[in-house]
Amino acid sequence: MSFTVAIDGPAASGKGTIARALAARFGFAHLDTGLLYRAVGRRHLAGEDPAEAARALRREDLEGDDLRGAEVAQAASRVAALPEVRSALVDFQRAFASRAGGAVLDGRDIGTVICPDAPVKLYVTASDAVRAHRRWLELTAKGDTRSEAEVLAELRERDARDQARASAPLKPAEDAITLDTTELSIEDALAQAIALVAARL
Ligand code: C5P
Repeated sequence: MSFTVAIDGPAASGKGTIARALAARFGFAHLDTGLLYRAVGRRHLAGEDPAEAARALRREDLEGDDLRGAEVAQAASRVAALPEVRSALVDFQRAFASRAGGAVLDGRDIGTVICPDAPVKLYVTASDAVRAHRRWLELTAKGDTRSEAEVLAELRERDARDQARASAPLKPAEDAITLDTTELSIEDALAQAIALVAARL
């Protein structure tokens, strides 16, 4: 039986943490769809045409520490605005979502475009300042020297681009439940998410 949990939200909202924890809790497979766009962004930074890179994406492209860095994040958000890139990645994501045993996918357009029929849709968000602080802590732990103000500016630029693009913009699905993690601890947000999934299973 397939069962899909669709999780969307802006950068550093906590959606990845919630997606991983839900997958572990219910024994579902997890796909961080941002990695697909980051992999295309990284290949584009190396000189490749983004649409060709998306069509030729392989498992090995999803590896490497630099995939999580700030430069690749900006490149990902630029290539993610291209309809040819997005359409090249649809089939893989839908196949993952419909695998037997259940799947959690997190990204920007999972509830709106990739899995509009998912039985559970969450939109995870938090204030810009809280998200920037979280991302700054992560980047600093990896040795990145950006200031918190720079991280905030980059995050806002990326969110604005993701929300304004014509193709599958970042927005909550009409039937998504919003979890605002600005003042909610990750444990409380996760408890709410677990209850929602359990109620639909
Ligand atoms: O989630 P993450 O920050 O790794 O995503 C990197 C970029 O990939 C996002 O800023 C967004 O532009 C793009 N993305 C997307 N659709 C998704 C997942 C990510 O457009 N489903």
